[in-house]
Amino acid sequence: QYNNFYEILEKNAKRLKNKPAYFIDNRKITWDRLKKKVDTFARALELIGVKKTDLVPILVANSIEYIVALLGIQKLGAVAVPINTFLKEEEITFILNDTEAEILIASSKFKNNLKNIRKNTKVKKIIWEGETDNIDENNISFSEILSNFESHEVKELPKIDDLAVIIYTSGTTGKPKGAMLTYKNFFANIYGVNELIKLTNKDRFIAYLPMFHSFTLTVNILLPMFYGSPVVIIRSIMPFSNIIKQTLLKRVTIFTGVPDVYSALSRAKLPFYFHWFNKVRFFISGAAPLPAEVLDRFSKKFKKAKLLEGYGLSECSPVVAVNRPELQKPLSVGPAIPGVEVKIVNDELVEVPLGKPGEIIVKGDNVMKGYYKREEATDETIINGWLLTGDIGKMDEDGYIYILDRKKDLIISKGVNIYPREIEEVCLKYPGVKECAVVGKKENGDEIPVAFIEPEENIKINELELKKFLKQHLANYKIPKSIYVVNELPKNATGKVLKRKLRENLEDYIK
Ligand code: ATP
Repeated sequence: QYNNFYEILEKNAKRLKNKPAYFIDNRKITWDRLKKKVDTFARALELIGVKKTDLVPILVANSIEYIVALLGIQKLGAVAVPINTFLKEEEITFILNDTEAEILIASSKFKNNLKNIRKNTKVKKIIWEGETDNIDENNISFSEILSNFESHEVKELPKIDDLAVIIYTSGTTGKPKGAMLTYKNFFANIYGVNELIKLTNKDRFIAYLPMFHSFTLTVNILLPMFYGSPVVIIRSIMPFSNIIKQTLLKRVTIFTGVPDVYSALSRAKLPFYFHWFNKVRFFISGAAPLPAEVLDRFSKKFKKAKLLEGYGLSECSPVVAVNRPELQKPLSVGPAIPGVEVKIVNDELVEVPLGKPGEIIVKGDNVMKGYYKREEATDETIINGWLLTGDIGKMDEDGYIYILDRKKDLIISKGVNIYPREIEEVCLKYPGVKECAVVGKKENGDEIPVAFIEPEENIKINELELKKFLKQHLANYKIPKSIYVVNELPKNATGKVLKRKLRENLEDYIK
């Protein structure tokens, strides 16, 4: 049994030595090389002044440096804080101030923000990753560290209940809050997921989704590290064709993605050697609802593929439930993973009967310790050891969970609940609709559903015809009062539609 990830790295360096840990660009990094880098980086951090339990933010895109920083910080017993690299300066400043960090590890892409970061936060020293010309002398570059510092001697490694990472939730529903995750939380998730997919020494992962996200961190970095499986790192999701190429050429066996990726894959022109996709044992989808339409199109194109939808949230490290390979139910996210309990409850936290909607609550070793410096929010979210997810769902007799919607996205029209996702699923069946988002519009003290439609390229959607189609499938009160055709829906880094933005800027779209 492990206490932290450094112990895994140590074991892999001994056991797997010069076997590949990562593939990136056209290089490979072996386990013993990775360990050397981590040891050197930890020593540099120590000399710079990082101490046990300090929070150290990482503002770096997918790279080996990201992994080295993560493990180096943890080796000292400090806490890594991955920051979304797509955020704007103001949002980054908010998180840096919340952490009160004095040392930041950042990609040189943020060079122009240096002055303001210094002025508006407590950050004193920055370790830069990437191109480091013209960076002021108070800072240090990643490559300088790796070539000039000695190796760090292990003194005291973190214990299982220590904080490993703080993940700021992406804020699709409000200001970001830092979910405090311990090593135990991550291990619970790793053991639970591994019991389902049962990694073998032939498995290979691909990591193209951003590493700052909890899904990628656990499933694409920590889980493969636990088994010693190599990971193909892709720096950016674009061009998409590169992900396909690397998956096939590097013989990836576990492919993780978000619904947008599966939608793109099911529409993409594939190279002639696409039958190599047969090597992929599992395609896993998470982070947002996988529309039935996408699952259907994907399954028709990749006949032998197993695309399993799962569900999770940063506060749960993040995986809560995954469909089972032996019994997959479309539109369901599967039963809870081993070691995790799920209940569907009403507002009084009393369990509702099977098949009835209610809030999803979660208990298990994967549940976070709380929100950093937010006691009140923690007490509202974790009650008697149960984490309130803010998601509405129902459960069937096999324990399979169906996510209906987020509590905050629910539309209450004349006192009746309307689940936007139900309407979205029907919209997506209409020819030419690529994406769809339904939100509630405030009107005369009530809320009414309105739909935003993103059409497929070069397709014109006739709103009246679409409404007619919806009327054939949905009760009248669920029919969106207005349908707005837009070029592009606003999304976050994992492709989740920012419904808050749609609601707040409704007037702009209507213009
Ligand atoms: P914030 O919590 O601040 O709004 P966020 O929701 O983007 O940010 P994450 O932890 O990244 O934070 O996302 C978790 C949420 O994603 C879940 O609570 C749920 O609403 C949604 N989600 C994840 N997987 C699925 C899924 N398979 N189907 C439907 N929704 C999902």
